[in-house]
Amino acid sequence: MGYEVQYDVAAVIVTVAVAVHFFYKKTVNTRMTIVLSALIYLSLASAVLDMVTVYTIEHAKEVPHWINYLLNQAYLLLFNAITPIYYMYVVYLNKESGRMRMRDRLQVIVPYAADALLIATTPFTGYVFAMDPQNGYTYGGGMFVLYMVALLYVAASFVRTVLFRKNLNKGQRMITYCYTVACIISIVAQMLTDQLLIIQFSIAIAILLIYLSLENPEDFSNKLLGTYNETAFVEILSTMIRNKREFSVVGIRVHGLQYITKTLGATSWNHLLKQIAEFLQHAVGKKRVFYLSGSRFAVIAKGTMTGDAVIHKIQERFQRPFKADDAEISLAVPMCMISYPEHVDTVENILDAIEYFSDAAKGAGNAGVVYANEETLKNVGREFQVVQILKRAVVDKKFEVWYQPIYSVEKKRFTSAEALVRLTDEEFGVISPDEFIPLAEKNGMILEIGVYVFREVCRFMKTHQVWNYGIENIDVNLSVVQCMQERLYETLLDIMDEYCLDYHCINLEITETAAVVSSETLERNMRQLIRRGMHFFLDDYGTGFSNTATLIDYPFHTIKMDKTLVWSAMKNKKAMHALKYSMAMIKAMQMEIVAEGVETQEQAKILEAMGCDFFQGYLYSKPVSGAEFLNKVRAEAIYA
Ligand code: C2E
Ligand code: MG
Ligand code: MG
Repeated sequence: MGYEVQYDVAAVIVTVAVAVHFFYKKTVNTRMTIVLSALIYLSLASAVLDMVTVYTIEHAKEVPHWINYLLNQAYLLLFNAITPIYYMYVVYLNKESGRMRMRDRLQVIVPYAADALLIATTPFTGYVFAMDPQNGYTYGGGMFVLYMVALLYVAASFVRTVLFRKNLNKGQRMITYCYTVACIISIVAQMLTDQLLIIQFSIAIAILLIYLSLENPEDFSNKLLGTYNETAFVEILSTMIRNKREFSVVGIRVHGLQYITKTLGATSWNHLLKQIAEFLQHAVGKKRVFYLSGSRFAVIAKGTMTGDAVIHKIQERFQRPFKADDAEISLAVPMCMISYPEHVDTVENILDAIEYFSDAAKGAGNAGVVYANEETLKNVGREFQVVQILKRAVVDKKFEVWYQPIYSVEKKRFTSAEALVRLTDEEFGVISPDEFIPLAEKNGMILEIGVYVFREVCRFMKTHQVWNYGIENIDVNLSVVQCMQERLYETLLDIMDEYCLDYHCINLEITETAAVVSSETLERNMRQLIRRGMHFFLDDYGTGFSNTATLIDYPFHTIKMDKTLVWSAMKNKKAMHALKYSMAMIKAMQMEIVAEGVETQEQAKILEAMGCDFFQGYLYSKPVSGAEFLNKVRAEAIYA
């Protein structure tokens, strides 16, 4: 019986299809893709050589012996490299990061080296196969050893997949298991019937499956913009850091794009982003440009294309406007530059630094470029550490709620208080909410913190029956992110119900930003809560926009004058007019006023004359712990 080469032909067709798809698609040279391309090349070459050797064996009489030996040896060397390379693929797949350890390397190399030795010496030993004029091509005992080594690699790949299954998703696990079973069946079948050349075909199918499930090149690109994405960015940076290559990263945040969506629509936004992506790819090369998210890009600068050169090119282009529809739009590009290994040593640090410095660069003006240096990196370091502390504090519920009493001008005593969250860390000491609240918002922890504070205030009021000491209500701050929650009102009402509290016991303080960012959701939440008797306070009035429309459009009960406005009014005539007439306007609109930051008798007198209803400030009390607050108000109640 002759050899059946149809399966080899099919194997070549399948592998070529995978190879074409693989190389046509945008992908990134990571360890995984390099190993996968080695697998594709190897199986293609060995399928072709398998067919060639079938021919040369069947025509052994015409083909010189040494050529037959050489071709068969080459075939066996390539073919037997497939399972170790696959094993290497599984090792990488199961690793979260880092290099292969020495033990893994030895596992990949040593059995194959033994195979290679047997194959190389076979013309002298005849151990794997022999070619002789009478019998033609015959297998020796060594062929069995090669099969066993292949089975060993397959089994090891299987065991590794089972051991590290947590690192793989369900699809990846299924494919690896199927691959193992297919390999074992085809190796055994091949051992039993050496005429049926089925192995190459099953390998080709396995590679197709692996390609489809494990390695999806689209994971690395942004389809809309035709650039690499953040996943690719992380992969490439990891590879460069592993290989200790020097490079700089230029972080770019295009400023002003958000207004485009509002005025010209989402299509124009996409169109503009695409223009920017194309410009960047053209200016610095396709392989260096990465789209991160929103309006953020990153460029990797190395070799002759320095970070400064990249920045210069970008600045030059952004001096001219971009086109969207028929409009000409000028955009600002705050940028930051971070270099490895001078400034950062891990990918996470680079991502954190880009995020941090992009914000800083925005503040540095339109053409702002922030260069990482020791000083600026200290802030990144601190931000990073505070986020870690926050994460732990959220899990361990390590926050405390302090209270700052609020003095009623009319009743001449404390009638309420503002609840202010506190975070203390053994190493960092007291961390100000001004520092950690924005970080908690950025890192998705604010909702939990918000609910914790709200619940704690309810518990405090209920347990200590604070109304017995004249405290009618307590103000709780809501963050912008909380105001964006569709069901915020339900969450808050449920907690109050749990403690059987009257709804008017708690006032909610929000800032103008919340009103701007989440107007519709906020309005719905406000309506639901106000209907039940809760009051909303506008916090920090006199900072930010202080838009009169906010006062008109939203049903605020009370306006809190920000401490900075109060303080500057005491030093500056213009600010004094602003404060005075703002307060007159607010009073005319029938809203109450709390002045924050009242530190002196003189300030209190002036504010009282202007019609202020409540004072909050160090003159009366700093924020204090719950116990201290109770002491204060108890003492006042007794004194009264
Ligand atoms: P805020 O809501 O405007 O709170 C008033 C801040 O002014 C408090 O700072 C308070 O200690 C301070 N303050 C009041 N009177 C005086 C004074 O006479 N002199 C001086 N120098 N400062 C005074 P704190 O506690 O550091 O809070 C800062 C900000 O953090 C708050 O500003 C609020 O925006 C935010 N925050 C605090 N607790 C929470 C919370 O539970 N949730 C949310 N979302 N934000 C909170
Ligand atoms: Mg407040
Ligand atoms: Mg305030």
